[in-house]
Amino acid sequence: MRTGAAKSVVSAASTMSSGGGRNSPVVAMHWFRKGLRLHDNPALLSSMSAASSSRTGGKVFPVYVMDGDCYQIRRSSALRANFLVECLLDLDASLRACGSRLYVMSGDPVDVLPSLFDEFGVTHLTYEADETGEPYAVKRDEQVIAAANEAGIEIDSFCSETLHPLAEGYVAKVGGSAERVPRTMSAFQGLLSRMGNIAKPMKSPTSRDFPKQDHSSYEGEMLPPSKSTDLPWPRCPKEEVTPVWGPDDCKKLKPVARGGESKGLSQLKEGMKRPAWVASFEKPKTSCTSLKPSTLAISPYMSLGCLSPRTVWYAVSETIEHAPASVSKSKPPVSLHGQLIWRDFNNLIAHSANQQKPGSWGVMEGNPYCRQVPWSNDVKLLNAWKEGKTGYPWIDACMAQLRTEGWIHHLGRHAVACFLTRGDLWQSWEEGAAHFEAELLDADYALNGFNWLWLSCSGFFYQYFRCYSPIAFQKKNDPSGVYIRKWLPELSKLPNKFIYEPWKAPRSVLEEAGIQIGEDYPRPIVDHGPVSKENMSKMAYAYDEHKAKSEGATKAAKKGKGPPKKKRKTQMKLK
Ligand SMILES: Cc1cc2nc3c(=O)[nH]c(=O)nc-3n(C[C@H](O)[C@H](O)[C@H](O)COP(=O)(O)OP(=O)(O)OC[C@H]3O[C@@H](n4cnc5c(N)ncnc54)[C@H](O)[C@@H]3O)c2cc1C
Repeated sequence: MRTGAAKSVVSAASTMSSGGGRNSPVVAMHWFRKGLRLHDNPALLSSMSAASSSRTGGKVFPVYVMDGDCYQIRRSSALRANFLVECLLDLDASLRACGSRLYVMSGDPVDVLPSLFDEFGVTHLTYEADETGEPYAVKRDEQVIAAANEAGIEIDSFCSETLHPLAEGYVAKVGGSAERVPRTMSAFQGLLSRMGNIAKPMKSPTSRDFPKQDHSSYEGEMLPPSKSTDLPWPRCPKEEVTPVWGPDDCKKLKPVARGGESKGLSQLKEGMKRPAWVASFEKPKTSCTSLKPSTLAISPYMSLGCLSPRTVWYAVSETIEHAPASVSKSKPPVSLHGQLIWRDFNNLIAHSANQQKPGSWGVMEGNPYCRQVPWSNDVKLLNAWKEGKTGYPWIDACMAQLRTEGWIHHLGRHAVACFLTRGDLWQSWEEGAAHFEAELLDADYALNGFNWLWLSCSGFFYQYFRCYSPIAFQKKNDPSGVYIRKWLPELSKLPNKFIYEPWKAPRSVLEEAGIQIGEDYPRPIVDHGPVSKENMSKMAYAYDEHKAKSEGATKAAKKGKGPPKKKRKTQMKLK
């Protein structure tokens, strides 16, 4: 019996080819958690390979368990919940096209899966490993593995969430200690270059690959949810749950992307239609004010694993080969490959933090990568930010896009994250990250945590004296405020001159535009100029404290090391 330790793709291939002539039929369950796709899914292929190793009667049961406590549901906005539902429906449709189907249950997988092991007579369990160490996933997997072991079920998990496996790939390469992983992108790029080739993505299975299996006895049962409100609430008492979505919120949604692997693959294909654009892509040069995404907009699919990173990597490589020779090719970290490298880097750091201190990723206290900053806690300011009522049109427009489409361009995220934390409002990045987790279609445990540390200057980026202006930054990119006019229609009649600073408009101009400041649109909740300077001083103080503490700790550590050394010498002499 195997323990379910994470496997690399290479070993996945060997498992798959090891079939042949079992007497008792293999009944494999492939447990979808993230990785909601058929393509490049080594764990799914392995379940099929195991089933086909039986002479007759091998079966595969693809299963998904909806649990209100999991990262994918626990804080869902209506948009995000809807996206997950669409992904499950798409997955079910693709499986049915192969003569299979998706079995969906609701509840805690720790209870639900053992009952399904019995129901289906499961002998093998496969799943994609969750390597970041996200606390819910860790606890869930430990308990499910224990139950499967007890039931004598063979377990295989596979690492296919990142370009290379985190533990057996990157961490192994730096000597096996998660503390030693690179802390900067350039050092991480160095590590990546020593990792060897990225494994080629595996093909999607077809109906020929699935065992011939009769699913009719479960027809009409264990179906995927058909609407967002079918998803379960978190399992904690109802009164502890902030109802971020409900039936009324689920009407007339306008998400930036519709869920599912098929849609994700089409979106990727669409993006790859412009080889010159792909080859010369430089993230900082993409527009954050265009009304349609100026980047690939595949992140919602990446976060739920509807698209495999290796598939995207090789799609980009192949597309670049078709770019005209005259195109000057961009390089990581700003190129499209660079974006995928950032993604692996973020995942590795989350993994490393949780290896050093379980559960520390995504929070300030105890997080080995996060500086401690005494943020304040002002519900009014926080809510104004969440609701897009700060009085700064560029910030409020971004928050309106987030609320409506579940997505904002990377630089828009920069602006609102800086504004909430070190820039203007001095509120904790944890609050911002929690709101993003609820609202972003692409909410991702590793990426969200990493980027909030970066933007709040709590980790990885420390130039707190460089601050986004909520006015000037966008004025030069979008002088006529096209983006603001779309997302804040109440300001649409303002002349260009005042679109970023409506409070400065003379009364006659405001009257003509039909706006009363304080009524139709809020006054600025803080004065950016002085407040951002004040916050820089607070940040400088927090950094000094951090330095003093770490120097103190180093001295204490050195001091602490003194006596044992002497002791050792004495002991050696004695010997
Ligand atoms: C405060 C803040 C929070 C964020 N939270 C998330 C989050 O929860 N989920 C999320 O997917 N992204 C997050 N990002 C990163 C980034 O903004 C998005 O990944 C990107 O905008 C997605 O758009 P795209 O698919 O068009 O990206 P493209 O530029 O086309 O890049 C392709 C893929 O590369 C990866 N990628 C791109 N940028 C980054 C980055 N900076 N770091 C790591 N990986 C990246 C994504 O998987 C993305 O889909 C956050 C950024 C900030 C500043």
